[in-house]
Amino acid sequence: ALRLTVVFILSSLVSIVGHKRPWPATLPQELSALDISVRIRVDPEATFPVSTDFGRLVSAAPAAVLFPSSNLDIMALLSFANDSPRPFKVAPRGRGHSLRGQAAAPKGVVIDMRSLARRTGGGHDTVATTLSPITVSSCQDGSDPQGSAYVDAGGEQLWADVLSETLKHGLAPKSWTDYLYLTVGGTLSNAGISGQAFRHGPQISTVYELDVITGKGEMKTCSKEHNSDLFYAVLGGLGQFGVITRARIALEPAPDNVKWVRLIYTNFAAFTKDQEYLISLDGRPTPGTNSTKSKGFDYVEGSVFLDRSPVSSWRSSFSPADSARINSLITKYGPVYCLEAGIYYRNASKFAAEKDLDRLLEELSFIPGMTFIIDIGYVRFLNRVREGELQLRAQGLWDVPHPWLALFVPRSRISDFNARVFRRIIRENRSKGPILVYPVNRDRWDERTSAVIPDEGVFYSVSLLWSATTETLEQLEAQNEEVLRFCNDEGIKVKQYLPHYEERSDWVKHFGAKWEVFLERKRKYDPKRILSPGQGNFTSSA
Ligand code: FAD
Repeated sequence: ALRLTVVFILSSLVSIVGHKRPWPATLPQELSALDISVRIRVDPEATFPVSTDFGRLVSAAPAAVLFPSSNLDIMALLSFANDSPRPFKVAPRGRGHSLRGQAAAPKGVVIDMRSLARRTGGGHDTVATTLSPITVSSCQDGSDPQGSAYVDAGGEQLWADVLSETLKHGLAPKSWTDYLYLTVGGTLSNAGISGQAFRHGPQISTVYELDVITGKGEMKTCSKEHNSDLFYAVLGGLGQFGVITRARIALEPAPDNVKWVRLIYTNFAAFTKDQEYLISLDGRPTPGTNSTKSKGFDYVEGSVFLDRSPVSSWRSSFSPADSARINSLITKYGPVYCLEAGIYYRNASKFAAEKDLDRLLEELSFIPGMTFIIDIGYVRFLNRVREGELQLRAQGLWDVPHPWLALFVPRSRISDFNARVFRRIIRENRSKGPILVYPVNRDRWDERTSAVIPDEGVFYSVSLLWSATTETLEQLEAQNEEVLRFCNDEGIKVKQYLPHYEERSDWVKHFGAKWEVFLERKRKYDPKRILSPGQGNFTSSA
């Protein structure tokens, strides 16, 4: 008992004076003399939680964690690292919802971006009520050069908090991710896609301006007009060029409700034909004519149910009775495809939304009677994955390994992809996670950003969102490899989203014509290759 008590007292002392531990050998001793050192912790209570991420597939401990109190702390750390004769790696970490260590800084310093939000009342996993670094401007009188409403949000903010703040002004961002508990800086470092991307582009297409602290520790404001090279570098830039501390994001009037529609197909060609038709309806003028295309749905996604388990997915929620109907189709025909769409509406225009919906449904060729339509509040609609998360958390099934594979598949090969991947390689997905499949329009992406997409006017976002156990992990990883091998062997020019490669040659291939630009920008903004080493872009002599 005495030994236990001594151990307990010692470990308590360690946690109290953790930052007084011996300075890690991998970091220059001079760092401990800087003012920011009081906000740097080297104890395992600080370093352990940021050693892994949502993927739970890799573990890499940093030597230290910086809990910044302001942007100045981040500038001080980065300029010190850059100027040091012994530069060390630094990774900003948003919510750590990467999959394979992309927000890690092995033996370096992780910047806990969320500590900036915690200082202003946010930082918990609930929607905060007061958040000073989120400022909404609803200037719609033409006096604003950027033309419409926007929000200035700290890079550390959760999209859920941005939504709650903008809604106070009756406004909301235009483009989303399916899950809102991700940070602004984290999703803008990738792209940020969901069912609105076909119309508004990914989240990176809806940014007007950024504040970025480069790898040299310099704070720069950038936009399409000003420091545009840095602006485009950072968007989709995998955290390689700087730390996003503020993003100015376009807003639109927020609807009250959504007509949320799910339509079932057994024929993949009919499913994708309808999806592609719906993403062509954008309400914009048809080139060369005076006519305007009808607006269609505001949200278009889709998923595949390979076996009798649609109810079990955290991404879809069918009632047991509806699920039974879908399951009987699966038993009879094999894979079933579910087109998911939404029409936004204000309370006052519910009737018009109903008429629009009837008109649109008449144009589609889902299985008659297999329509599932509900009216749902806008916030609940956007935040619906949260409900699935909380259910899985309660069952202890959220914090498990996630060997996800996300691909952009060119439209011309999506049918080949279906025939082999959904129908043969992935034989069943019972309880292993949802599969999302939906098309987006390439012209809503800006070629100048660092994001990489297929070279076709329409491409599909395909996400295999696996949850693994120790028994199934190896099998799921092997299955992912088989999918990638198939695409490679068959010349299907897929691009990985949330990419992960270990070989330089794979990165060069991934970026294609953009590789040289990516390298040049790295030389310019992070010459010592300090930032976000967990992405693995520059592990070798690239
Ligand atoms: P982190 O994992 O903390 O960081 C990601 C990368 O960005 C790291 O390299 C990090 O160093 C860098 N970084 C972090 N903050 C900054 C910053 N301020 N400035 C510069 N670089 C920074 N993605 C979609 O597009 N659509 C979806 O619908 C979607 N759904 C998801 C659902 C779940 C449940 C999960 C776990 C992920 C989902 N994702 C989706 C992927 C997600 O967008 C990315 O993993 C994103 O990076 C996570 O944000 P984060 O704040 O956790 O970033």
